[in-house]
Amino acid sequence: MKLKNKVAIITGAGKGIGRACAQLCLDEGAKVVLVSRTKKDLEIFAKENSKLAKNIFCITADVSKEASVKKAVKETIAKFKRIDILINNAGFGIFDNLIVSKTKDFDAMFGTNVRGLYFMTREVLPQMIKQNGGTIINIASIAGKQGFASGSIYCASKHAVMGMSKALMLEVRQHNIRVIAICPGSVDTKFFRPESKTYLSSRNETVLQMEDIAQSCLLAASLPMNAMISELEIRPTNPSK
Ligand code: NAP
Repeated sequence: MKLKNKVAIITGAGKGIGRACAQLCLDEGAKVVLVSRTKKDLEIFAKENSKLAKNIFCITADVSKEASVKKAVKETIAKFKRIDILINNAGFGIFDNLIVSKTKDFDAMFGTNVRGLYFMTREVLPQMIKQNGGTIINIASIAGKQGFASGSIYCASKHAVMGMSKALMLEVRQHNIRVIAICPGSVDTKFFRPESKTYLSSRNETVLQMEDIAQSCLLAASLPMNAMISELEIRPTNPSK
């Protein structure tokens, strides 16, 4: 068990990559705090893992709301007394060319992908500093390193995540806090919603599985504390398969 007795908060844990991360952390012995907006998703996770109920804490919250994040972090510390790992995963994309994009979609993407990550990180850091250690994993994207047509706003939000991750890593490493940006290529999740212009469906490629991203988080979190993977790109090995 690589994460025995560690306390891990995972945002966007109701579905997709976040859920896979929560499951793997739990399986590896961690106490997990699942944060996302849809209560039902969290209840299903708790039900499926009822044998480990004492290691699961579900919080229904929107990470883009400052007060909700403050409350979630406070409740986590009250319950588990510490925070070892924060996986900032909550995020989404609405894909369209910038010229036809809507302000509300811009605000929503930055609200969750950037502000949400900022709120969570800022609220968790004092506890990690107090403990003299911790690991913050930000789920960015390959879209945080390059652009693609119809992704202007999403790519901008993920570039912001990369910038914040790189700077924060330098700000907090003296407290033995690791900041890791994980940049996945396309992952087979519900992320590409039917109402959005997907580029996944138009591509004839093998994509990553959400468990692959969870494994990369585990790898980063379970290295000895003196070592930090500050950035990790993960792609399908053979995309043409
Ligand atoms: P997903 O299947 O849509 O799951 C996203 C999760 O985040 C859901 O549980 C959602 O639940 C939650 N969430 C969304 N907004 C939230 C908010 N404001 N507050 C709290 N929870 C929120 O997406 P995914 O594909 O797993 O994506 C997870 C992360 O990976 C995102 O940051 C995404 O940008 C990144 N990523 C994905 C891919 C890909 O190809 N799928 C590739 C690279 C990077 P509720 O709606 O119930 O809150």
